[in-house]
Amino acid sequence: MGFPEMRLSRMRGNEVFRGMVRENKVELSDLVQPIFVHHGENIKNEIKSMPGQFQYSVENACAYIQELYDLGLRAVLLFGIPKVKDEQGSDSWDDQGGIIQQALRAMKQACPGMMLITDVCFCEYTSHGHCGVMVDRGGEMVLDHDATLEKLALQAVSHAMAGADMVAPSGMIDGGIAAIRQALDMEDFNHIPIMAYSAKYASSFYGPFRDAADGAPKYGDRRTHQMDCANRAEAIREVELDVVEGADIVMVKPGLAYMDVINDVKATFGLPTAVYNVSGEYAMVKAAGAQGWIDAEAVTMEILLGFKRAGADIILTYHAEEVARDFGIK
Ligand SMILES: [Zn+2]
Repeated sequence: MGFPEMRLSRMRGNEVFRGMVRENKVELSDLVQPIFVHHGENIKNEIKSMPGQFQYSVENACAYIQELYDLGLRAVLLFGIPKVKDEQGSDSWDDQGGIIQQALRAMKQACPGMMLITDVCFCEYTSHGHCGVMVDRGGEMVLDHDATLEKLALQAVSHAMAGADMVAPSGMIDGGIAAIRQALDMEDFNHIPIMAYSAKYASSFYGPFRDAADGAPKYGDRRTHQMDCANRAEAIREVELDVVEGADIVMVKPGLAYMDVINDVKATFGLPTAVYNVSGEYAMVKAAGAQGWIDAEAVTMEILLGFKRAGADIILTYHAEEVARDFGIK
């Protein structure tokens, strides 16, 4: 049957009909708000390139997650900005003095119901700003994946000990998921899941994040370990490796320019799939909205719905707070 008997517009005639046939919804339980925890006290620094996003000292971060909790959000992703950066990034596995470890302990006290996910990587902690141990290969400094694994395991276990509910290794280190899974299991943390940044592209959309986390590489770039933006099939191979190594959730990052990859990953593996709606994507919406060139609220919801339609179950987004606060979503 076709037109004129069949008219698809019939089910679009009013909001009740549209609601009945709506295929996807964004719910607060889908969203994770990233938070930047800064060393020191009494800090709430707005990040210039990400209006509405702040670096918080531990006590302010605690108050902030309580606010998010009261708005109905239940998960945050923590990034740490340590006082001291060194060649190895040792603050990241410092059980006592580490910025993330301090934040985890304080947050567990302040807001026990909030799920605390930690970024597990080295770029925020190393003096050179790279995601692990660097090695000189024929005059060029490159990331040494194998040497990084041991440190990665140390960091993940230290986070779990301090109260992390889930760890999220973001460095695209070969063998990283297996190393972390083994280390967690050995230390009686076999209940702590891993959200793996499985298909993370060497993207220009990360620009504002580098202001936020103070993590720009001091030399070189990350193209030796992050994926080439042109590749689609390779993402399946990357995700497959992480699945075999024990990832509980797989992630695609960034989001907007990678909808095909989200769709492929969900369709191929059927696993819980996350997408990171990254800093540059957030900044573009905010900038155009501030100019009055787009309706930022409507565009935000359209983007988040797009992720759901593509197959994402979980959306890490800087928009989470405002969605919970202003957009009338439960
Ligand atoms: Zn990194």
